[in-house]
Amino acid sequence: MIPDHPFDDYRGRRVLVMGLGSFGGGIGAVRFLVSRGASVTVTDRRSSETLAEALNELKDTPPDRLVLGQHREDDFTSADLVVVNPAVKRDCPYLNAALGAGVPLTSEMNLFWKWNRAPVIGVTGSNGKSTTTALIYAILEKFLSSQSGRRVWLGGNIGKSLLPQVDQIRPTDLVVLELSSFQLTDLDRLQVSPHVAVITNFAPNHLDWHPGLDHYRSAKQTMLRWQGESDVAVVNGDDLDVKQWGTRGIRREFSLQQGDSPAIYYEHPMAVVRSGNSVMRWPLREWLTLPGDHNVANALAAITAAITMGANETSVREGISSYKPLPHRLQLIAEVEGRKFYNDSLATTPESTEVALRAFDEPIVLLAGGYDKQVDLSGMSAAIAARAKAVSLMGQTAAPLNSLLNAVPSTMCIVSEPQSSLEAAFEWAVGQSAPGDIVLLSPGCASYDWFRNFADRGDQFTGLVRQFAVRAGAMMS
Ligand code: ADP
Repeated sequence: MIPDHPFDDYRGRRVLVMGLGSFGGGIGAVRFLVSRGASVTVTDRRSSETLAEALNELKDTPPDRLVLGQHREDDFTSADLVVVNPAVKRDCPYLNAALGAGVPLTSEMNLFWKWNRAPVIGVTGSNGKSTTTALIYAILEKFLSSQSGRRVWLGGNIGKSLLPQVDQIRPTDLVVLELSSFQLTDLDRLQVSPHVAVITNFAPNHLDWHPGLDHYRSAKQTMLRWQGESDVAVVNGDDLDVKQWGTRGIRREFSLQQGDSPAIYYEHPMAVVRSGNSVMRWPLREWLTLPGDHNVANALAAITAAITMGANETSVREGISSYKPLPHRLQLIAEVEGRKFYNDSLATTPESTEVALRAFDEPIVLLAGGYDKQVDLSGMSAAIAARAKAVSLMGQTAAPLNSLLNAVPSTMCIVSEPQSSLEAAFEWAVGQSAPGDIVLLSPGCASYDWFRNFADRGDQFTGLVRQFAVRAGAMMS
């Protein structure tokens, strides 16, 4: 096997960065490599017009060459190193050509791991990664604000590359990283796991990328696979799959129930925290502004990780109470004519739509469906049929969702025909809604069929809500 990254001195090395990506990883890699003296070529299938924003961010550290709108095999076989965007499928012929020519492959996250000296608190899972990651960061920021000279850094799949700043991160600092299954697939080659590894949950996802469910699970298990005895695994005790995952490290479970002695559990409205011989009860529901029990679970995971790193009750309370929901995650956009409009565009898995449906008591008119990741949508359909008043269906999965929903016996849910656009889906949903209802965009599917990404989908939905508010002459909240 060709080592991930066989040299430390980048000066004069020809490095190919494949895919600028949408989450900052490609840009971070280019900045880092240019500043270390590499001769960098960026190649991306997308055109320079589509990439204009990303390229603009590179004006201060431009790569030596751009090969856009295409890939050229030659660039791959003649490089000294290829930095692969995590979303690129591994059976890609260009990567095979590079490997065939003996060229090593690495990733932005692998480069970061190689150079980072601070302990890493890593977060993965099928759902709730970003929220949990950002909650841990919020608590640790409060915690370290009282300790001069130390700071916490936030990065990874949440949309920020820390690679360009890696030299500023001191060994006494803390790094909080959201890690995707794609990034973990690459990290496994380095045989590394985070010092504190948080697993929020596990459910089938990304089966269009991973060759199968076992491969996806195995990628996620990289979090624990290389842990040592002093490392800590923070795992979801309510998830029957994750509960079986082994670690050599110290295991701390979080749970929504008291069950079999988790390190932390929820007894509405309190979090019960066991630490050594003492038991603390904290009014978590009062502190946490995010709706739904799934967010309580995310907060329990975050608290467990943060107290493992020394955080106390004050920093937990301050971090959690000051936390603002990230955009596109059950985000209240506006109340117009008595209807509350929520943007949950980041619900790209069926489970996240199920939890969104459970997070409200009011009647729900749902907008769902999108790009087909080949995951089973029957559980989500059953939840929609049981809980939604009406559902407006979008994207590639509209037709299969329509069949699944129409097969549910005696549901009161009104099911639309597949809609032709987000505008049409929105108009239909508004037409079905009444004052007192929730109109919820929570697609349960990825966005790539109709939109650039989840943020584009959420922004377009927000735009439609704003137009509707103007039409209704309503005050925006
Ligand atoms: P991720 O980073 O894993 O995509 P996020 O924290 O960004 O997760 O949340 C994305 C969506 O997933 C949210 O809009 C929410 O509806 C849903 N979600 C969040 N946490 C959970 C959880 N613990 N279990 C199931 N669904 C969740």
